[in-house]
Amino acid sequence: MGTDLTSKISFIQKYSNIKRVVGYVNKMEKGYFAIASVMTLIDVVISFMALILSAQVLNMISDKKETSEIIKLVFIFLTVYLVLNVLSAYCQKHVETKRQAIVKKWNYMITNKMMDMDYSLAESPFVGELKGRIQKDLNWGAGINDILWQCSGMISDVLYIIGAVIINIPILYQIISRGNTLGIIMIVIVYIVSVLLVKLQIKKLEKYQHRFLDEPYEAEEQAKRYGLTWEMATEQLYEYKNGKDIRIYDGYELFDEYTYGRMERYTRHYTHQTGKMAATAESMGDGIKSFMYASGYVVVGVITFSSQIPVGSIVQYAGAMQNMFSGIVNLSWNFWELAISARKHLSTLELIELRDEMYKGKLPVEKRSDNEYEIEFEHVYFKYPGGKDYALKDLSLKIKIGEKMAVVGMNGSGKTTMIKLLCKLYEPTQGRILLNGVDIKKFDADEYRTLFSVVFQNFKLFSMELGENVAGSEQYDNEKVKECLEKAGFTIDEEKMNKGLNTCLYKNYDNDGVEISGGEAQKIAIARALYKDAPFILLDEPTASLDPLAENEIYAKFDSIVGTKTAIYISHRLSSCKFCNDIVVFHHGSIIQRGSHEELLEDVHGKYYEMWNAQAQYYQK
Ligand code: ADP
Repeated sequence: MGTDLTSKISFIQKYSNIKRVVGYVNKMEKGYFAIASVMTLIDVVISFMALILSAQVLNMISDKKETSEIIKLVFIFLTVYLVLNVLSAYCQKHVETKRQAIVKKWNYMITNKMMDMDYSLAESPFVGELKGRIQKDLNWGAGINDILWQCSGMISDVLYIIGAVIINIPILYQIISRGNTLGIIMIVIVYIVSVLLVKLQIKKLEKYQHRFLDEPYEAEEQAKRYGLTWEMATEQLYEYKNGKDIRIYDGYELFDEYTYGRMERYTRHYTHQTGKMAATAESMGDGIKSFMYASGYVVVGVITFSSQIPVGSIVQYAGAMQNMFSGIVNLSWNFWELAISARKHLSTLELIELRDEMYKGKLPVEKRSDNEYEIEFEHVYFKYPGGKDYALKDLSLKIKIGEKMAVVGMNGSGKTTMIKLLCKLYEPTQGRILLNGVDIKKFDADEYRTLFSVVFQNFKLFSMELGENVAGSEQYDNEKVKECLEKAGFTIDEEKMNKGLNTCLYKNYDNDGVEISGGEAQKIAIARALYKDAPFILLDEPTASLDPLAENEIYAKFDSIVGTKTAIYISHRLSSCKFCNDIVVFHHGSIIQRGSHEELLEDVHGKYYEMWNAQAQYYQK
């Protein structure tokens, strides 16, 4: 569910939300608001100058002044006008540069947070839900640009009111000094009527906003109970890789039902009303503006009725009076809109302000040229956030330098979880993991992770150049990349990959990008692990999509590639790990057996024996 953007909150709350969001923006680009204010001030002065000039020219004509005098005045005004416009353009350039920088920094702040937060948090359902909420909250609008534009609008409104009051000083002075009760009453009435009208209009707008913004969420929540939402369905449609199956299985109709049919049924009851509501609110706004314009003339006309004020000045006072009235109305509108925009950004701030829970170690990892590293799991228990059962229970395990260890067990027995903990992606709920006797939570996470090369089950290659994928960097050693690819069994097909290491993988961003097969992807992922040249190398079933014999081949080959490095092989297929002298059997998050293949098979009541026999049919060949 998205943030309820239109439920009632107090003025103070609105103000503090705005302050919070604007505070972030201000820290990102110091001086943005200062220069935007200067630019707005110049623009306001320019607009009042036009009013004053036309009034003065009218007065001079009615006073039958010389044409040369009028031309002189117009010339002076135009010169000042030109200078101010140049200044305004200069400010505009800086405002625009800073605005673009803010938008970039704002977006970067979100992606950076996603990369920087604890992996356990990034993977949690809560962050998943929060990301959905952010997307929905920012669906209708221009994101942080809205805040910037609306703030400029409010600065402009305030300056218009100040300018209008200054110009109207003679009129206001007349009202007060002559005790012009009618004038005072009229100004008060216009203000009261306009405030009431604006309140009424905002109420209508809020109702419209509720229909437009909040109810679709509710409808979507309802639709969710029946399966996919519109958003989830369109996301799958956008992904070109899904295109094959959609075409073969005539998925259009199914997706059409999810994207339009289902949502349409749940949203039909309000969609036809929203147009009517928008039109009513908008025409009320137009009505209020016309009322302000007419009031400006009426009030000034009544106040100056019996006085000898020249006609030009009346035009000037009436214009300023209109600005005085409409300034307040615009200020109310802008404040209301800014308050909504600020509220839309609260979910983003919620993400940015999420606190990591893992202990932030600072200890540097001892760099050992002899790679004498030893890992020990000491009575480790682990439960996923929000999970009911322990994924790991009382796990004790030692991995010595240069050892090769295989971890086998049924799906869901905790093998991958053990790897995630080992790589410090999660922290044990209880117990410790030690590196050369030191609790790994004390180490700086980034530094600690340099010790591990992992090929995960669901590893990801990026839509970047082949060489960059292997090296994980833009700068790389060509020869070393080629050597690792070769070791991993990947040969660059010159015809298909005619740019060699510079060939882009996948077509997401490059028309010349190449599509690679699952097997090729695995080889590249293995080459990436080799290129990193870390002392520990872990294979977590990246071969799950291959048949058991092919997996067996890759694992055995990999074992000869890794040489003296410490390696952990994970698989639910026992045949793949048979070659390893140290096999650890996981079951329900605990180690239940350990030994060589032959030793483990001797225990005919053991899990290994049971699994081996169950899987034997695959290895008969
Ligand atoms: P294996 O690698 O042996 O197949 P896993 O380590 O992936 O097993 O999973 C162990 C248990 O933890 C399983 O019950 C699984 O459902 C659960 N689990 C795995 N990942 C998560 C997660 N991100 N959140 C909650 N539970 C998880």
